Amino acid sequence: MRDEFLLLNPGPVPMSEAAREAMSEPMVSHRSAAFEAVYERAQDGLEYVFERSSLDGERTARGGEALILNGTATMGMEAAVANLVDADDELVAVVNGKFGRRFKRIAERHCEVTPVEFDWGQPIDLDTVADAVSDETEVVTVVHNETSTGLLNPVEEIGEIAADHDARFVVDGVTSIGGDAFRIDDWGVDVAVTDGQKALAAPPGVSALYVADGVDAHVDGESAPFYEDLDWHSRKAGQHQTPFTSAVPLFRGLAVAVEEIEAEGMPDRIARHRRQSTAFREAMWAMGLESFPELNEATDYSNTLTAIELPAGARGDDSDAFFDAVADRGVSISGGQAHLGGEIFRVSNMGNITDDQLRRGIRTIGEAFESVGVDVETSAAVDAANEELGR
Ligand code: PLP
Repeated sequence: MRDEFLLLNPGPVPMSEAAREAMSEPMVSHRSAAFEAVYERAQDGLEYVFERSSLDGERTARGGEALILNGTATMGMEAAVANLVDADDELVAVVNGKFGRRFKRIAERHCEVTPVEFDWGQPIDLDTVADAVSDETEVVTVVHNETSTGLLNPVEEIGEIAADHDARFVVDGVTSIGGDAFRIDDWGVDVAVTDGQKALAAPPGVSALYVADGVDAHVDGESAPFYEDLDWHSRKAGQHQTPFTSAVPLFRGLAVAVEEIEAEGMPDRIARHRRQSTAFREAMWAMGLESFPELNEATDYSNTLTAIELPAGARGDDSDAFFDAVADRGVSISGGQAHLGGEIFRVSNMGNITDDQLRRGIRTIGEAFESVGVDVETSAAVDAANEELGR
């Protein structure tokens, strides 16, 4: 019998049966009490995640507000930026991967941008960031967990630089929030962005923001975006509604997903993600492969997804046969994005992936390499993972 399909892409990630079932309930009006109850559950669960994203259960934020948007993370990123700047404001965009670049591209449509760019997969040099941020800077943007490269960027240190100049700090926590530690208050984050389809294990098509206590994420006048007007979203959130028609099934799936996170508890969830990503990395190294990103003292490997260099024999044009061999075994992983296509592969452990599913992912990758003639140590890889996973 063929194994069940296993989705190990860095989003969308598998959803629980309960979350999927919730999405198929009969439709209700987005202005009904039934929907308001769903919004409230989703918002409460999100506030738990945003405010308790620590390994020790310590509170990471208080007094802010979680807002839910009908749209993927890019909408959340744009909402955050566009509500904080006027056209002549200066924003410093820190870029070391595709999603850092996306913040830059979004911001270029709304204000003056000073990019601080590093090669994709290279760590951020904090001195270079400090040189770029000045008292003229209105907003600094950075991606915490750079999904395109598997790097965990130094949000705390960049937050200190932003705070030194009284700049607003907008952080994309799309593939960390819900799976890794994220300390909104300690790191001086003014607006944090996350997405349903990533570490929350909710459906694609909804994203969420946390506007920290005391932050007025709202520009006056004509430059405020219409659909993403956060002042309006905040007023409607008070009634457990969105300003426009809510994506009802997606909100239902999200409500269940965040309740499941609360039931697991963020400390256990973070510990699980760290254990699994360490196991996966160790397995890849034992197989004879190398991590793609480079670290410095302020940077770590991601705890929610791993980016590995494709070895000779499965690089460039040869990579298609490898990815096909993985897919033929019923597993879905991702390649590199943009110029990293054919150079790397990426595997997620976000959401509710079990240790056995991770082992299967490792075995499948090993077998797929072997099937295209790349000599790897598949059994050593599984053994290395088991050392971490405890079997
Ligand atoms: N930010 C990060 C870190 C991401 O990983 C992604 C998607 O992978 C996004 C933003 C954008 O998400 P979407 O393209 O679904 O809007």
